[in-house]
Amino acid sequence: MSLTPRLVLATDLDGTFLGGDDQQRQALYADLNSWGDDLLLIFVTGRDLTFVADLVSQPGMPTPDLIIGDVGTTIAHGRDHAPVTELQDWVDERWNGANERVRDLLADEPGLRLQPVMGQRRVSYYYDPATLQASTIAKVEAAGFDVITSADTFLDVLPRGVAKGPTLTRLVAALDLPADAVLVAGDTLNDLSLFQTDFRGVAVGNSEPALVERLAGLSDVHHSALPGCAGIADAIEHFRFFAPSGA
Ligand SMILES: [Mg+2]
Repeated sequence: MSLTPRLVLATDLDGTFLGGDDQQRQALYADLNSWGDDLLLIFVTGRDLTFVADLVSQPGMPTPDLIIGDVGTTIAHGRDHAPVTELQDWVDERWNGANERVRDLLADEPGLRLQPVMGQRRVSYYYDPATLQASTIAKVEAAGFDVITSADTFLDVLPRGVAKGPTLTRLVAALDLPADAVLVAGDTLNDLSLFQTDFRGVAVGNSEPALVERLAGLSDVHHSALPGCAGIADAIEHFRFFAPSGA
């Protein structure tokens, strides 16, 4: 893992690094695989480490140097999935084993259905926008947690102050990575915190309107017209991290 890369790509997976058509995905992955130590790749996802392991086993898929999984609550090295201890300890402390407490607190709230995949330091639901009550969110926030909704479908209860963006900021500082080499990429509201950092970012062309709305007025965000991987490639060129492939 090079600590002086030209580009630190910190990218969401679904709809972003896994978005675009086959050709657009293969083109970006080939570029990334060719950049060697000039690239440091970080997956920043709501998915867990098992999902990432399955993904990376697919031919052509770049292996990340680092993984921020479970919506910012899991921080691991990309090859062996060993925890980045100092950051994982920070999240553990803030969460304090609250899974059962959160599930009990929200057991009878309308519009929530527990997701089958359970992170160790978050509780995740599917929600129905038509029935979810503002009072439900207020209740869980009052109990000392953060709530993030995205894509009108997913509701995550997270340790207070922990999300994709804050975790990435701490990781970049902890590893002494060059902040001006970082490019964040995302497409839904659970990526918003990535853009609320000092890093440059790209909202890919298929971003949900609610994210685009919240990005208005933020500097250093490139709104690509192109979807998923093609949007990331467009931003790499836009911010001049690398010349377009073939140039
Ligand atoms: Mg996404």
